[in-house]
This record gives sequence, C-alpha cells and structure tokens, in this order.
Amino acid sequence: LLQLYQPLNFFGVVYREIKQSLTDIESMVTLLSVEREVADRPDAAPLAIDGAEIRFEGVEFGYDPRRPILKGVSFTVPAGRTVAIVGPSGAGKSTISRLLFRFYDVNGGRVLIDGQDIREVTQVSLRGSIGIVPQDTVLFNDTIFYNIAYGRPGATPAEVERAARLAHIHDFIMALPDGYQTTVGERGLKLSGGEKQRVAIARTILKNPAILLFDEATSALDTHTEREIQANLREVSRGRTTLVIAHRLSTVIDADEILVLEAGRVIERGRHADLLAAGGAYAALWARQQESAQGPALIPGVLAPT
Ligand code: ATP
Repeated sequence: LLQLYQPLNFFGVVYREIKQSLTDIESMVTLLSVEREVADRPDAAPLAIDGAEIRFEGVEFGYDPRRPILKGVSFTVPAGRTVAIVGPSGAGKSTISRLLFRFYDVNGGRVLIDGQDIREVTQVSLRGSIGIVPQDTVLFNDTIFYNIAYGRPGATPAEVERAARLAHIHDFIMALPDGYQTTVGERGLKLSGGEKQRVAIARTILKNPAILLFDEATSALDTHTEREIQANLREVSRGRTTLVIAHRLSTVIDADEILVLEAGRVIERGRHADLLAAGGAYAALWARQQESAQGPALIPGVLAPT
C-alpha cells in the first residue's frame, strides 16, 4: 500500500503545484488585463500643465460595454474655473471623476487636460496634478503633522505650518496640548467633520495640484458644517481648475458653471441663479431638496438641502 501511496502522493504534490501555478497565472492575467486598461503608452510623456483646462469631448463610457453610463458628455472647465456636476443618484457623476483620474479609459470621445489626451500622458504625472478633497476625510492614526505632510512627503515643518495656516487649522492645532504632534484618527483625538476637512485641505495645499476634485459626501451635514465646507471649497479652489462632484446641491452655488447630468447626459447647464430662473430640471432638484430640508435658509430664499 505504501508503494502505491508514494506515487499517488507525488502526483498530489505535482497537481497542487500545477494548480497553484495556474492560479498565479490566472491572477497575473487578471492583473494584467486590469492594468492593460489603463497602462501607460510606451511613448507616454509627462502631462504638461499650462493653466490646467479640463475638457470632456463626447465622452462615452460604461463599466460594462453593454450598459452605457455616460452617453456623449461634453464640457470644459477653463483654467482656474469651477464647474459643478449635479444630478440624481446613479446619473454618472462619480464616474466622471474616475475617468478624469483615468481609473478607466473612455469607450468613445476624449478627456483632455491642456489639450493633451490623458491616455497619452503618464499616469503618475496625471494623478500627481490632481488633488482630491473628499468631504468625509479619513485620517491616519498618526500625528496631525504626518497627516498634513502626507500631501508632499519630505515637506519641512515650516511648509506644513504654512499649509495649515492657509487651511485655517493652524491656530486650532497650536491650542492642542501636543500641537502638531497630537495623534488623531480613530485611536487618537477625534476631529469634527469640518476640522478633518481642513486637515485634508492643508494636505492638498501642500501638494499644490493644478486641478482640484471636490467630491461632496452623500451624507447629510448640519447647516453650520455645510457653510464651513462651502467656505473651505472657495478657499482651496482659488486659482485652481476645480471640478465639484455634488451629491447634494450645497457646494454648487458659487460654481462658474453647473452641469445637470441625468442618465449619463448633460441635460442643462448654466449658473445657479440662471438655472433656478429657467425653472427646469435644476430648479426641480432644488425644490425637491427644499421639501426635505430641515435647517434654516442656506442662502437667502433658498433652503439648505439635507
Ligand atoms: P450618487 O450620487 O448616488 O453617488 P453618481 O451620479 O455619482 O451617483 P456613479 O457612481 O457615477 O453615480 O454611478 C453611475 C452608474 O454606474 C450607476 O448605475 C452605478 O451602479 C454604476 N457603477 C458605478 N461604479 C461601477 C463599477 N465599478 N462597476 C459597475 N458599475 C458601476
């Protein structure tokens, strides 16, 4: 029996090894196919920024080609300007930000930054040019200093402090017992939503990106925090080309242009007051948010959305 067992055992080992190799090959292929989708071209050049104008030209995209999500989306964010994208849940707003980062390639049309198709530039240079300020920032379980310096590894204490001052968080930090060495995050000092966002803004200021992507949280915030966030956005977007992905409508009031996206198409565009006056889809979205609004007026005549 032992004589029979040994060869069988041998085959068992070989079988497991082959199976493991196949699994490795399989995962490698999976990895490669994911990478291939967004691989740098052999001749990819670094993105050359000159003002950082963003242009979506007839962009078609679906995560699954059988289910189109964006159906010919075109818009321009001129250098240093702010464009906000609003629309019902599932319209494709966040998808636009993922395409700008080139997490996926478009199925049709083009995404250009300063006239360069983002498929023709290196991903490192593309992503290095974009800063994100999410509304629900997650901080590392580390010092405030580390959390800000993360924006540009190797930043000096003076640079970190300058960024914190610009983000209006320096005085708050100095009032803490351990100042910049205070540990924050889940296991340290818990910061409020607005404070966490200021840390994220300081981090972004340090990174100094030409393009800012402001991704608004889906969750409802109180009116005070809403106002604070609007002020923060105004501050950090100054002089940067800014794309606001608005899941609610509170941060769009100041935008140079608002795009209303519905089922993957831009159905309306204009400034806040003009769109309200036009009484179309945007006005209806506002009205719907007003109905569910609980807080006092955010701006005169308009209720804070929840
Ligand atoms: P919300 O305001 O609810 O966040 P949104 O306008 O940002 O919505 P997207 O996140 O862009 O919407 O999603 C648009 C559509 O794409 C949705 O139908 C969603 O189910 C689909 N989708 C999003 N991400 C993926 C993915 N990774 N794979 C497949 N489908 C996806």
